[in-house]
Amino acid sequence: MIPLDIPVPETGKLTQLADDLYWARFDLPFRLNHINLYMLDTQDGWCLIDAGVNNEVTAAHWHMLLEGPLSGQPVAFILITHHHVDHMGYAGALASLTGAPCFASSDEAVHGHWLYDLAPQEFGAILSRTYRWYGLPAEIAQRVAQNGSRYRANASPLPIFQEITAGEVIHTRAGAWEVRIDTGHSDAQISLMDCQRNLFLSVDFLLPRISPNISADIRNPDFDSLSHYFTYLEEMTSLPADMSIFPGHDWPFRDGGARATILIEHHHERLQQLEDAAQNQPLSVALAMDVLFGRAFGDHELYFASGEARAHLTHLVATGRLQIKRHDKGHDLYVPV
Ligand SMILES: [Zn+2]
Repeated sequence: MIPLDIPVPETGKLTQLADDLYWARFDLPFRLNHINLYMLDTQDGWCLIDAGVNNEVTAAHWHMLLEGPLSGQPVAFILITHHHVDHMGYAGALASLTGAPCFASSDEAVHGHWLYDLAPQEFGAILSRTYRWYGLPAEIAQRVAQNGSRYRANASPLPIFQEITAGEVIHTRAGAWEVRIDTGHSDAQISLMDCQRNLFLSVDFLLPRISPNISADIRNPDFDSLSHYFTYLEEMTSLPADMSIFPGHDWPFRDGGARATILIEHHHERLQQLEDAAQNQPLSVALAMDVLFGRAFGDHELYFASGEARAHLTHLVATGRLQIKRHDKGHDLYVPV
């Protein structure tokens, strides 16, 4: 998609996107090396949308903003859109720093706390067992068992979240943002839409450049998240072409409907690739990754790539195109029906 002609905010500064909406860009220590955080200007003070990952760079950046461009009024509340560690990791620290309450959807709060509260060795054991079922090499499964919790390593102690639900409206000094809750990239992500002004804070479900990661949930790998994501994308195909969209990564864009259509086609292509490959040989998740990506991954990316492959295989089973043979020779295999 073509970026809107809006300058990317520098560290410690904000770019104003609408009368009540501001944008900050925070660095991330991952391959996806940044996240977009947003602030709404309300009668009660700032609403901060997402917190960033928990590290010293994030802490220093929040201090710069709170003592600089955000210093004119208090923080009224913090809204965490979903449990992924780049969004929720610094939530507890930000709540302590500002004294503001934190809101999230119920499912995202539960998932974040589940991941954070797991003892590192328990997290390692679950991921190691999952990778064995995926058919990944034994040395990788052994290594992740030793590596502990990739979630807790990037999060401060999570706060108690107050619940926010779909249909609630956040009133700002200039508009009214209605809460959406959707399933796909995560369990119950919050996004915000102001239909009157044609503004949409899509966060991670509709991104202009990369395909949002649709991953198996290690708590329940048979949950068909891709079906839910298709439902979301179908709805997004009718977005007004001139609606400005503010995503969690990369840059603001328009033509959200066209973007949704591209993402639908992308996932259907991947599903077809896997269905075709399974005609030639039984597919493990590891083999499915080779079909989809054809390259090796480091441990951080492996988590997302294997989850993405598993989610597509799960969808093929859920839609009757493949069947699963569980733990055959120690791992799951997917074969024609
Ligand atoms: Zn995310």
